[in-house]
Amino acid sequence: MSEQFERLSRLPLRDDLRGKHPYGAPQLDVPILLNVNENTYGVPDDVRQAIVEAVSREVVGLNRYPDREFTELRTNLARYLGHGLTPENLWAANGSNEVLQHLLQAFGGPGRSAIGFPPTYSMYPLLASSTGTRYIAGRGNEKFDLNAEDAAREVRQSGANLVFLCSPNNPSGSALGLDVVEAVYEASEDAQAIVIVDEAYAEFAHSGTVSALSLLAGRERLVVSRTMSKAFAMAGTRLGYLASAPEVADALRLVRLPYHLSAITQAAANAALTHSDLLLANVENIKVQRDRIVAGLLQLGLTPVPSDANFVLFGGLDDPHRIWQGLLDGGVLIRDVGIPGHLRVTAGTETETTVFLETLGALLERAV
Ligand code: PMP
Repeated sequence: MSEQFERLSRLPLRDDLRGKHPYGAPQLDVPILLNVNENTYGVPDDVRQAIVEAVSREVVGLNRYPDREFTELRTNLARYLGHGLTPENLWAANGSNEVLQHLLQAFGGPGRSAIGFPPTYSMYPLLASSTGTRYIAGRGNEKFDLNAEDAAREVRQSGANLVFLCSPNNPSGSALGLDVVEAVYEASEDAQAIVIVDEAYAEFAHSGTVSALSLLAGRERLVVSRTMSKAFAMAGTRLGYLASAPEVADALRLVRLPYHLSAITQAAANAALTHSDLLLANVENIKVQRDRIVAGLLQLGLTPVPSDANFVLFGGLDDPHRIWQGLLDGGVLIRDVGIPGHLRVTAGTETETTVFLETLGALLERAV
């Protein structure tokens, strides 16, 4: 046991936190970072300028608390999403992780449960546990192809108070059909569960993949969460948001900390949203690289999972750790998501993809 860990264990820590390790992918100083599904393109110059000006206007008033209701931000987010949504339908927080935490704080908690479909976003069980919510691992997504029938059955049997559907799913990249969302919503009628569709990667979907935003009307327990961390290239800003019936957003007002979105965050996000066309301009390039990665991996004899996101999960590796380490030694950091024989890589720029595919190819050749 490390000295630091031993000191921690002497503290009067909550029993359920004892022995736990903090969540976090390695943050290493490596030239090519393809491990946490960021947008690897920098913020374009015009947007950077607009953000600096907006933040600088706010600095004068930093002696005051920010707009607790982040009205301008909700207005901009509603406009960006469309679908007839109004500011009353919007909620935001410091990253969609915090949005999800708010949902669990309001609708989960001791004596309540949440269901997700592994392999899926690893923060769901952690957020559930930190809010005292029991986490149920639903079956049916083991081959990354959750269908309406299995999902509805698992949700009905679980009686869970919250349902996490992730589409496109992290780590597989697979998008769900709207039939899955509809079936799950119906199946959760008895439990009156909050059904969350986590669409953190929605902007990268192939054309033809439809967002669950189109199902919101008339479904007051349905929530669609999004983020500015991925397509918007704003992971450092920490801005996630959701669209829902206004009463769900009202419930979240009961659990958020006062003034949880800083004036700086609001200013940066608003400036970014007024330039969303410029920020999203690289989404198409990223999708091209994503599809190029899939094709390249197939050529290398590996088994990539079809992806609607800005990353690709691939299998067919005898020794994923050797490959992960070999890539790292070659200056490319990707992610071991703990699925046997698999690794996950983020789609970045053309050059980053080339280095990734060439380094991987050389490592696989060496193994033969
Ligand atoms: N949902 C999914 C599926 C994710 O992959 C991530 C980030 N990895 C998040 C939510 C959280 O993103 P953020 O807090 O940066 O908005």
